[in-house]
Amino acid sequence: MIRIRVKIIGVVQGVGFRPEVYNLANKLKLTGFIFNDLNGVTIEIQGQKKITDEFIESLKKNPPRAARIDAIIFKEIKTKKEKEFLIKPSKYEGVRQSLSPDISICPDCQKELFDPKNRRYLYPFINCYSCGPRFTFIKKMPYDRRNTTMSGFKMCLECAAEYNDPKNRRFHAEPIACSKCGPALKLIDKKGKEISKDSIREAVKLIKKGKIIAVKGLGGYQLICDAGNKEAVNYLREAKNRPHKPLAIMVDEGTLKKIAQVSAEEIALLKSASSPIVLVKKKKNNIVAENVASGVNEYGVMLPYTPLHQLLIKEAGEKVLVVTSGNLSGHSIIFKDQEALKSLSKIADYFLMHNREITVGYDDSVARIVNKEPLVIRASRGVSPLFFKRDKDLIPALAMGADLKNSFALSSGKDIILSQYIGDMGSASVKKRWLDVRNLYEELFNISPQVVVADLHPGYETTKIAENLGLPVYQFQHHKAHIASVAFEHSLSEPVIGVAFDGLGYGEDGNFWGGEFFSGDPCNLNREHHLAYFPLLGGDIASVEPVRAALSLVLESKINSERIKKIFGDETNDKIFNLKTMYEKKINSPLTSSMGRLFDAASYFIGFRGQNTYEGEAACYLESMAEEAEEKYRYSVENRTILVFKIIEGMIKDLESGVKKEKIAGKFQRTVLEIIVSETLKISKETGIRTVCLSGGVFQNRYLLENTLKKLSKKGFNVYYNKMVPISDGGIALGQLYLLNCKGPTLTKETINVSCHPRSDKKNK
Ligand SMILES: [Zn+2]
Ligand SMILES: [Zn+2]
Repeated sequence: MIRIRVKIIGVVQGVGFRPEVYNLANKLKLTGFIFNDLNGVTIEIQGQKKITDEFIESLKKNPPRAARIDAIIFKEIKTKKEKEFLIKPSKYEGVRQSLSPDISICPDCQKELFDPKNRRYLYPFINCYSCGPRFTFIKKMPYDRRNTTMSGFKMCLECAAEYNDPKNRRFHAEPIACSKCGPALKLIDKKGKEISKDSIREAVKLIKKGKIIAVKGLGGYQLICDAGNKEAVNYLREAKNRPHKPLAIMVDEGTLKKIAQVSAEEIALLKSASSPIVLVKKKKNNIVAENVASGVNEYGVMLPYTPLHQLLIKEAGEKVLVVTSGNLSGHSIIFKDQEALKSLSKIADYFLMHNREITVGYDDSVARIVNKEPLVIRASRGVSPLFFKRDKDLIPALAMGADLKNSFALSSGKDIILSQYIGDMGSASVKKRWLDVRNLYEELFNISPQVVVADLHPGYETTKIAENLGLPVYQFQHHKAHIASVAFEHSLSEPVIGVAFDGLGYGEDGNFWGGEFFSGDPCNLNREHHLAYFPLLGGDIASVEPVRAALSLVLESKINSERIKKIFGDETNDKIFNLKTMYEKKINSPLTSSMGRLFDAASYFIGFRGQNTYEGEAACYLESMAEEAEEKYRYSVENRTILVFKIIEGMIKDLESGVKKEKIAGKFQRTVLEIIVSETLKISKETGIRTVCLSGGVFQNRYLLENTLKKLSKKGFNVYYNKMVPISDGGIALGQLYLLNCKGPTLTKETINVSCHPRSDKKNK
């Protein structure tokens, strides 16, 4: 007979861990107890060694579906006299629980939802301890029904019995509900008039007629229409002011296989507890209209992840639905009923609403499979907040993140929490959302930051907000924070070679960086190599109009004016003339070393005209078009500067001699891969460093990331990149916290007020 204490660290609360362990212990006839604590759960079990081993094996092999186990620590202790296995009350020293994010509908609830004999048959809010809302309906910690927006719904006797029975899969399922006692759906028109009692059937009928329905989903309102109806999609695009960006679609698994090529890993991700939008390769089909995702070779798809979506998709049959965030262009997702009725009535014809209040907006998360593993592109519903634990105390801080695709992070004690995707900080509504979410998080997790960390960019909205908080401000360079975010995610402290390729980040020399190679301790990175600077004609607007990067690079490459005319033939002469003047007179043309802008220029040459209506549009165009190529363009390196002008010359030459654009795109990508691999090798040779960190939006390119991993691993490097944390600017906040904590003991709580030198990092030594 032995007794073992097991501590499980990770996201293990709100996922049914306690009742599952309770049932397992009872099945194996073990005694002991389990309770929730600050770090996760603590279990003690007692019985024959063979059986306790079996218990631990089973826990490791079949943890609850939504659990994230970071560590299991066990220790043999003295046996006790006891007769049974108990679920003990939770022990919280504070209220910072590692609660699970929202969880997609589980297979058991799915079965019940469509079982005519079940009492929750077709009930759109069915859930259990393994699935349902979590952070979208919590008001306060600890996670308990009275602290959620379900507090106003009194459980019926049947629900209450299930809730209190540890053998039931709804034991302490805080959102538990049924049609007798829980929330209900309502289908209304713009004037608020109820259309039909049979709301799901009627809503789908209207969708089939080409109407747009605003549906109150899990993390906010969504706009839904028939993805096969070109006119409806067009109307939605116009009304939302979203001309090109691909729209996400929702399908059942059967239909998915007709419209896309999906791998086993992609299916598993789609069905996972987080159920994000997954980018999958399109198949030729006549089910989805072309304008849902034109100009790219992928669809963003999701499976119906809530019972409500399950019912809609079932009713829609073979039809695929467009499901996109309910917001106006540049604004945040709407999650309040009154605001939805007011703002979305400009777009939607009808509203499918319910009376379970959403406490904070979450967009759908986006991910893609790279190298057979998930890569998070946008972290939000089902993924956020992301919790991390450290083994030493951290400075209580707020990290602002970056201005585009903002997420912020908070640290306190041993905890770090990364927020959901907030949006681009340019609009007042996103800024307001930022403030609301921050206030909620500080309250939920009981954190009072003592310092604030921001980007080095003096013009960033996030920097301005940071400066007005009345706290000491530390600023760190954007790309160093990118690399530090990888070091953070993988707990690295050894010297690394960091490759940060993205759009624009304010550099320590006042230029805009974005194609950078670093080396050294992640706390103290040296800028080793970078792309050669070229003028960013017009500053920020160059990120919107690829023609500006293209012309700038062509002029830098000393290509003669006759040839230039041919390349830019279809642009107006005035525009080219004005841009040229800008270039020659160096007006409003800050310098950049951005790989993102080099991609823009390359996309322009192979036919991407017009504007980036969303970040990375031109780069997606190029990636979609590119063929695999072994040939590459030449480039040279002088004084640690990577001269890319030969690449431009090579591309132009290929264009002039009629080489296929698909091939040019492929050769360009192959060249960028070559730059990464050969520069890394050079730096490694000089420094002896064998660990590589990759970060930045450019690495969302599947070809580039997969092949970089392949080539560098083959050469014996340990290669790390952001996986759970967005690889784009959404992960910056974690890098900022990493860098802040590098300061170590001089920044403890007691000394903060006396010894800190705000903004000491501004001009890095
Ligand atoms: Zn369930
Ligand atoms: Zn009930």
